[in-house]
Amino acid sequence: MEQEKKLYLETFGCQMNVSDSEKIVGLMRGIGYGETSDPAHADLILLNTCSIRATAEQRVYGHLGKFKSIKKKKPRLIIGVGGCVAQQEGERLLEKAPFVNLVFGTHNLHLLQGMVTAAESGKRSIETDFLDDEKRFDLFPAAGKDGSVTRFVTVMQGCDNFCAYCIVPHVRGREISRSAAKIVDEVAKLTEAGVSEVTLLGQNVNSYGLKTPGEPDFADLLKMVAELEGLQRLRFTTSHPKDISERLIACFAEIPKLAPHIHLPAQSGSDQVLKRMNRGYTRTEYLAKVAALKEACPGIQITGDIIVGFPGEDEAAFEETMTLVEEVGYADLFSFIYSARPGTKAADFADDTPRADKQRRLERLQAAQKRRTLAQNQALVGSVQQVLVEGLSSTGDALFGRTGGNRGTVLSGDPSLAGRLLDVKIVEGLQTLLMGEIVQV
Ligand code: SF4
Repeated sequence: MEQEKKLYLETFGCQMNVSDSEKIVGLMRGIGYGETSDPAHADLILLNTCSIRATAEQRVYGHLGKFKSIKKKKPRLIIGVGGCVAQQEGERLLEKAPFVNLVFGTHNLHLLQGMVTAAESGKRSIETDFLDDEKRFDLFPAAGKDGSVTRFVTVMQGCDNFCAYCIVPHVRGREISRSAAKIVDEVAKLTEAGVSEVTLLGQNVNSYGLKTPGEPDFADLLKMVAELEGLQRLRFTTSHPKDISERLIACFAEIPKLAPHIHLPAQSGSDQVLKRMNRGYTRTEYLAKVAALKEACPGIQITGDIIVGFPGEDEAAFEETMTLVEEVGYADLFSFIYSARPGTKAADFADDTPRADKQRRLERLQAAQKRRTLAQNQALVGSVQQVLVEGLSSTGDALFGRTGGNRGTVLSGDPSLAGRLLDVKIVEGLQTLLMGEIVQV
């Protein structure tokens, strides 16, 4: 019997990449590659890259350096690079890393099986053309980890917003929405296969359907998906604050299956910084949307992103971010120091804030958030939360699940409970986890 070939896949960055990587695993399985967690045992190494940080290219080349030494011992090893860095670097990647066999961009997953098969016969290839129609959603099968009870379903891709700091519109292309009928069909198939929760995924889901005549808007799409009987819980990400509509906010009150959590990146609390970022909303408008969400869904958990040290952010502007963060009361916050991405508008902005000042601001913001998250987790002790059990915890001796507010929860119970939505009493609130006990099976 022929031995199964092995794929080692490394994924960087956002949930869009995680979702693409699930598809890559399915596609490679289709041409005879099973997964391995050890690159030394691989016949095929693929990197699915992200270029959101300034050091992204160096990180990719650093990783490739490690794989080069494996290839010296195993000359038939195939190495491929995909995702946003591949889209940006293109031919340069093949020139700078001559041991790389294939480079595929963000719109080219559907070509990957053919590229790998060609590489098996010694052919190097590169595919980075944009495919700006709906076909790019349908050229490859929905695939994912077998047995998982939560899954991502892509509803739109690309972005037309051109925030001054962001590389996404340059590497993921223009915004395009997938047909609602195909989305509903995919979710139905997933629930039939045992999936309990789906997260509808896109760079800016709030603008879903708005540029596609005949398609519903995102609020109506949520309602259509929620009607599927087998589905227990529904989530979505990511939302742009300027595009979140009253109708979408009302969905949190109207759709019981919609989890009470939203990721709503503010990026800054200062109007002058938001304007330079080209975010399209003011601090007041952002806070008004947060207030409307809290009114529609009392107890909703809001998470966000903050960029510290954007060009032009002075101490006063940073203080406005600190007060915004306080006022929103984020459950969790992803925060980092701004770094310029070549090709974006902000890369040309003068940036005269010393690095040490940016670092100090970030540390202050993160320390305050850490205290807030812990206090919120501790405040949940004694409450009963609906936890969707995802499977075994990382230690393997307990179960892991998530509350509707998206807080990771560890509890005792039988592994057969995976996929069930259970009432769980919270008995301890830690920094990054809740500990719970099942109230009722
Ligand atoms: S909305 Fe702004 S930050 Fe988000 S992907 Fe589009 S350009 Fe980037």
